[in-house]
Amino acid sequence: MTTRVIPAQSATEVAAAAREAADLLRQGQCAALPTETVYGLACDALNARAATGVFAVKERPAFDPLIVHVAGTPWIERLTAAQGTVLALAQRLAEEFWPGPLTMVLPAAEEGDEVAVPDLVRSGLPTVALRSSAHPVMRAVIESLGGPVAAPSANRFGRISPVAAQHVLEELDGRIPLVVDGGPCRHGLESTIVQVEDGRLVLLRPGPVTREDLERFAPVERATGKTPVAAPGMLESHYAPRTPLKILGEQEGLPADAGESGLLAFGSGGGFAVVEELPSDPVAAAPLFFSALRRLDASDVRRIYARPIPESGLGMALMDRLRRAAHD
Ligand code: AMP
Ligand code: MG
Repeated sequence: MTTRVIPAQSATEVAAAAREAADLLRQGQCAALPTETVYGLACDALNARAATGVFAVKERPAFDPLIVHVAGTPWIERLTAAQGTVLALAQRLAEEFWPGPLTMVLPAAEEGDEVAVPDLVRSGLPTVALRSSAHPVMRAVIESLGGPVAAPSANRFGRISPVAAQHVLEELDGRIPLVVDGGPCRHGLESTIVQVEDGRLVLLRPGPVTREDLERFAPVERATGKTPVAAPGMLESHYAPRTPLKILGEQEGLPADAGESGLLAFGSGGGFAVVEELPSDPVAAAPLFFSALRRLDASDVRRIYARPIPESGLGMALMDRLRRAAHD
């Protein structure tokens, strides 16, 4: 299969690209689309067969559910069985953070209800994950399709998430019909995922909407490995480069193999064969993070080292991704 890449920068290009992508989705095919977090591999969320194709293209195991992208708040009531205080909390969060990088996990509407996300998209879980992206391309595709879009990150399973159209090609060239190139992703880190419960939020994956942001609405608990929810963004090894990665201790000096290794540093770093310096401000570093990791992985270093960043605000999401990248 030839993978076409079409630009979507101007309003005219966005509209044309969205129409083309929505046509593919309507036929049960998939297309890679930009979002404000990372590039997603989109299909019609209500078409189980189309979703099977997305799992196959990504080599994603069937136990790893897909996030469902919707046009806005009314879809919470359409696609979930949330009621009472849980529904009210979800709606308040949506009002505050949608459109934006927040995914909410809620009890799913039953199959047989007027609209329901198929079992396969949810990996058989009794819950569904909903998000409403702020990206004009994703929004236009959802509008043109007239319904929800399922879109996991547009990379092969377990690998580094794509934050530019070129990265999608590195992962999926020849496997998908279309990549819509909307330029680099603004946040560059996957969405925050919270499970909305009665009077509390369980943080399944830290992301651009920070724990501090969420705590204004309800107490937030960090999910542990023992949490019964299968949230594969929680898999210990994920977002991983091919080159082994190790996180250095805060005060740790140069490792013995620094001369043939790469370094990912927040702030300045030296003494390594290849150095990728990211800003020490996590908000400025996040959009550059996965690209830097990809460049280090593509260089011929034997090992990648990373220096830690303090875990407040977006620093929590950055350290979460680093730890998963470091796990072998
Ligand atoms: P990705 O879109 O590739 O960043 O991955 C989507 C992630 O969303 C999955 O790996 C899960 O961690 C999470 N997710 C999706 N649906 C659910 C759900 N129903 N319950 C819990 N987590 C979910
Ligand atoms: Mg992913």
